[in-house]
Amino acid sequence: MATQEDRLKDIIGHAKEYGFVFPSSEIYDGLSATYDYGQLGAELKNNIKNYWWKAMVQMHENIVGLDAAIFMAPQVWKASGHVDAFNDPLIDNKDSKKRYRADVLIEEHIEKIRQKNNKEVEKGQKRFGDAFNEHEFRTTNPTILRREEEITGIENRMRDALTNDKLDDLKLLIEELEIVCPLSGSKNWTDVKQFNLMFSTELGSVSGESSKIYLRPETAQGIFVNFLNVQKSGRMKIPFGIAQIGKAFRNEIVARQFIFRMREFEQMEMQFFVRPGEEGKWYEYWKDYRIKWHKALGFSENAYRFHDHIKLAHYAKAAADIEFDFPMGFKELEGIHSRGDFDLKQHEEFSGKKLRYFDPELNESYIPYVVETSVGLDRMFLAVLSQSYKDETLEDGTTRVVLSIPPALAPYKVAVLPLMKKDGMPELAREIIDGLKFDFNCQYDDKDNIGRRYRRQDAIGTPFAITVDQESLIDKTVTLRERDSMKQERVPIQDLYRIIDEKVNMRNLLVG
Ligand code: ATP
Repeated sequence: MATQEDRLKDIIGHAKEYGFVFPSSEIYDGLSATYDYGQLGAELKNNIKNYWWKAMVQMHENIVGLDAAIFMAPQVWKASGHVDAFNDPLIDNKDSKKRYRADVLIEEHIEKIRQKNNKEVEKGQKRFGDAFNEHEFRTTNPTILRREEEITGIENRMRDALTNDKLDDLKLLIEELEIVCPLSGSKNWTDVKQFNLMFSTELGSVSGESSKIYLRPETAQGIFVNFLNVQKSGRMKIPFGIAQIGKAFRNEIVARQFIFRMREFEQMEMQFFVRPGEEGKWYEYWKDYRIKWHKALGFSENAYRFHDHIKLAHYAKAAADIEFDFPMGFKELEGIHSRGDFDLKQHEEFSGKKLRYFDPELNESYIPYVVETSVGLDRMFLAVLSQSYKDETLEDGTTRVVLSIPPALAPYKVAVLPLMKKDGMPELAREIIDGLKFDFNCQYDDKDNIGRRYRRQDAIGTPFAITVDQESLIDKTVTLRERDSMKQERVPIQDLYRIIDEKVNMRNLLVG
């Protein structure tokens, strides 16, 4: 446990030291759970956005983009259900005065039981060696089976309490499971209360209920209210999708774990409009497409898992999360939801405007069904950073910290390093940059010895470093060093573009 926490601390420290992520308003001691992306963070974030946009919008003929306003008519949030139902159950510990999400406390308790089972499996593995059959062990070992039964029991009770708004039952469950406050260690809990997650503010200079507006808690509604605008102006035929990247705001009860849970964050969402009855097929399609998009980045296959929701959100007919193995364990990275016709129907009712699609093939009008994919940009950022961060001990006993960021996402693609600040080496380095900079983000660095400069580029994840030396001036070749293998080879300057492009082009991810 401690080592995982240490790893997260190391990543946070590294992100700050090299200009990826800073605590917001740091000179005023920061603002809780708010972060600013620094010079390298902004690049990485843009590249992630670009990867998503290309894969979702530009690679799909039938998906288009949108950039809707953050402020929306307040009725939107009434219609969407957020005013009445976008709540989290909160509970306070009377001794530490700390506030928790009741469902998260229970989920964490379940995770602990799961960990115990995993330990049991590890023990079995050690005992039986090659002859060990994990599936058989998990389905026959009495201790494991008893714990699985316990988990199912807890999940069923939690689902019942959450879906039927039985807040007393939720508290009872926390008491019966003897869950203690991680801070005070006490079981002295308040009652469970519902807490609405939307931020509100006032429009213009008049205050009061009539001018109350909300900061959007999801980008999806900007897509729904524009459904007909886009369909008509873009002559879209069902099935089609509308995608958007933008800020969302939630007054999270417990905002922590770095950029994993913030009160201001960014979402990349796509709503796919389909014929009623075809939503099941498209739900499976998008689950499959989205997991492939993640896996194309080349991180460990075991870093991902699907998790079906215990409690469906107020709009959902079916929902699955793609969970990712973050430094604090498996947590939600993306949600894929089958939303039925809930949203468009609600907006029809509240706005009094028809939001229907005329299907020329069926010769009828209907409200389309929607399948949504929704991934947090900041969580993607943390996923990339945490999987890429490596503290390596090299063959010669020295160590290096390297960010093995997938090349297409790396902030800088190339660093160009003149070995010395004389004899025309800096000029040739600049010339090389001039040839590459239109397609690849380049950095020029002439400070310190070359070894230190390589280490600096490793630490920020630059896939290639080019060293310009005396020989380069004569034969127009340079040393090209690759980040992960640290292999160095002599290559002609004229080949640089091709070699770099082959490795860093986003095409590699999109066809993968
Ligand atoms: P969680 O259960 O972790 O609160 P959620 O199920 O409420 O998440 P959704 O409403 O499905 O999340 O939002 C879609 C995506 O937006 C999530 O998968 C996540 O990546 C991102 N997201 C949601 N809330 C936050 C937040 N507070 N900070 C950063 N990203 C978030």
